[in-house]
Amino acid sequence: MSNEKTHAPAPNFLRNIVEADLASGAHTRQGLPPVITRFPPEPNGYLHVGHAKSIYTNFGLARDFGGRCHLRFDDTNPEKEEQEYVDSIMDSVRWLGFDWDYKGPVGAGNHLYFASDYFDKLYEMAEYLIKVGKAYVDSQSAADMAANRGNFTTPGTNSPFRNRSVEENLQLFRDMKAGKYKDGEHILRAKISEDAMSSPNMNMRDPAIYRIRHAHHHRTGDNWCIYPMYDYTHPISDALENITHSICTLEFQDHRPFYDWLLEVLSEGGFFAKPVPHQYEFARLNLTYIVTSKRKLRQMVEEGIVDGWDDPRLPTMAGMRRRGFTPEGIQLMCERTGVTKSDGWIDYSVLEGAVREDLDPKAPRAIAVLRPLKLIVENFPEGQSVECTSPVHPHHPELGHRTFPFTRELWIEEEDFMEVPTKGYFRFTPPVGDQPGARVRLKYGFVAECTGYDKDENGKVTAVRVKYFEDSKSGTPGADTYKVKGNITWVSAEAALEAEVRLYDRLFTEEKPDAGGKDFKEFLNPKALEIVKAYLEPGLKNALPEQRFQFERHGYFVADRVLSQPGKPVFNRIVTLKDSWAK
Ligand code: ATP
Ligand code: MG
Repeated sequence: MSNEKTHAPAPNFLRNIVEADLASGAHTRQGLPPVITRFPPEPNGYLHVGHAKSIYTNFGLARDFGGRCHLRFDDTNPEKEEQEYVDSIMDSVRWLGFDWDYKGPVGAGNHLYFASDYFDKLYEMAEYLIKVGKAYVDSQSAADMAANRGNFTTPGTNSPFRNRSVEENLQLFRDMKAGKYKDGEHILRAKISEDAMSSPNMNMRDPAIYRIRHAHHHRTGDNWCIYPMYDYTHPISDALENITHSICTLEFQDHRPFYDWLLEVLSEGGFFAKPVPHQYEFARLNLTYIVTSKRKLRQMVEEGIVDGWDDPRLPTMAGMRRRGFTPEGIQLMCERTGVTKSDGWIDYSVLEGAVREDLDPKAPRAIAVLRPLKLIVENFPEGQSVECTSPVHPHHPELGHRTFPFTRELWIEEEDFMEVPTKGYFRFTPPVGDQPGARVRLKYGFVAECTGYDKDENGKVTAVRVKYFEDSKSGTPGADTYKVKGNITWVSAEAALEAEVRLYDRLFTEEKPDAGGKDFKEFLNPKALEIVKAYLEPGLKNALPEQRFQFERHGYFVADRVLSQPGKPVFNRIVTLKDSWAK
């Protein structure tokens, strides 16, 4: 299903830009598709739903306009990056339905990249900048450098090292590379203009482009002890890969002038042919009822608030996958929430709604009793059974039927019996005086009338007793002669599959759990996970991990991809049938 559209794309400002560029031939180049985007994660954590939006935007744009999207790891920060994250990120992008292995028509190939593969070129370009007087080695202390940078209201001050000669800068930079200095002793900075330190844009005040870090890198090992900064690496990586539209979130708007400056200088130096890539910013996805900060996600994992990065309560891609959210549902949410230029909040129900909408037409139906109460059909012979059938999917007769037995003892939901009924309650209620008990249809089975109930010494109802009407079976002519108002689900107590079902709900009770300095841990939803012992329709025994169902009345469920075993499934609630959070 890779890179296939799941629904019709709607226009947005990015698509308009790409369309206009296609029409004007702005990026027509020999042997290259006319649109090349990239998704550039840093391999320092697990991806979350915000990244899904970025993946969808970048890969989706390429897909919709016949171009390709690169997966590029921005791995310039040796201390924080690990292979584990690289693997999980690749997994997540593929799972969402995208692939960097592009099939053409032009420029086919496996477009997986690592910024660290460009370290030699990045170094060479840095020497070039020094040679043309556009970079210098600064030897101020970190504190002096910070103080001299000024702030939004005060211009910065030039470093006393700013006017070093080209020769001295080159020698120092080469010695930095050769490992002659300690971390932080020197730094390479860009010199954009003579008065750059008073630029109103802080990012233009001699931004750092290389720093010393004696650290082991997950790919280059100990080859390097200087590492390029993100703002320097990113535009160059884009240009080396012939990216046409470099799409990022709004917070990078102020970085764009440096992006443009750097690529202009380097194309003058003959490193790149024009047109060079252009950066476009869009509003990040902010969803209510979750947190996406890498630091806070890590904190929840490390403090055991959740069970690992793939806990189904987390908005990580791994968590959403385990929860049972579908890639198509997540793509639909990404499409629906659109691409805009101003930040805003999207209600979490948009994601849940998209997942529901995707699942409804395709999830096979099944019966599960989550809060079981015994039902005894007193006039049904012990040891016998009657086969009942129901459609696999109400709107897809081609999917056929499922069968399950009706027996003397059944499980029904606790809430389907009331000793003293409230007004408008149409499920089982006991006889009172000469009033008979309520008649209810056991869905896909028979009509039954309540004849009594059992209680334990604590007054808890332990069983409901009924008599059934043999000629009332669903699908037979006799069925219509019984008019009942209640219709409830059930499973045979003898045949049911006993299974663990995990009822997941939102992790937080507060819309914006970490906004405005609030401590997100105060808003954890105690009902975000409830584990119940449930009785399931026997056919669910063979559910495969990641197989999804609609359990009638209860919502959509998935066989857990980690805990579920053939013959012994564990189900997760993906989402309820209706939004119970709507205000
Ligand atoms: P960090 O603070 O570690 O940089 P990050 O969330 O930006 O965290 P990256 O790995 O750099 O992580 O992100 C990869 C890409 O995903 C970036 O282009 C980033 O802009 C984008 N991205 C991250 N969060 C969101 C979001 N909520 N909505 C849209 N795009 C996002
Ligand atoms: Mg980032």
